[in-house]
Amino acid sequence: MAHSFRLDPQPLPHAPTPAAAREAAERALRVYLDHKELADGPAADLPSVLADALDPLRTHRAVGVRCLKCGHGLGFVALAPTGARMVSGTRRSPKRQRLGGIYDLAAVTESSGGFEGWVDDAAHSRGPVVPTGEAPGQRSGLPHRRTYRCQECGSHRTLKNSTLLVLYLATTMAEKLEFSYHGG
Ligand SMILES: [Zn+2]
Repeated sequence: MAHSFRLDPQPLPHAPTPAAAREAAERALRVYLDHKELADGPAADLPSVLADALDPLRTHRAVGVRCLKCGHGLGFVALAPTGARMVSGTRRSPKRQRLGGIYDLAAVTESSGGFEGWVDDAAHSRGPVVPTGEAPGQRSGLPHRRTYRCQECGSHRTLKNSTLLVLYLATTMAEKLEFSYHGG
């Protein structure tokens, strides 16, 4: 049953310290390298050894995405509350409302309830991220794959969930706040 993560009544675990997040990211990356199939398609939304390894990072801060070509900001990503999926946000919540993870993410467009904010943003042509469905043979019914379009220099690139997850883990391992990548 679909429900809003933001209305989940369960208390949130504390955000991990930078050192704890780094160690958790290192462990999770090792699990990913042994089980890459768990980070794309329907498996990315299910309980798994990879999802277990990612649990300490559920309330780790959202990480910024930046265009490597021109340095323009392309929004933020955080881990979904379950599974191994990355959630995109066009911008972050007001600072006092940031509780870590997806709670750091704010949408420009108010969510309709059925979709995450970034999907609604894309439907309204707002924000740099556009859902581009799933890779062939990985039908999950969810827009795991997404295209980042730099609104400054026009470069664009489509990323699988697993690619985004690895970038997120590498950034967390380096205790950095954001990552850049090359557009097409
Ligand atoms: Zn750019």
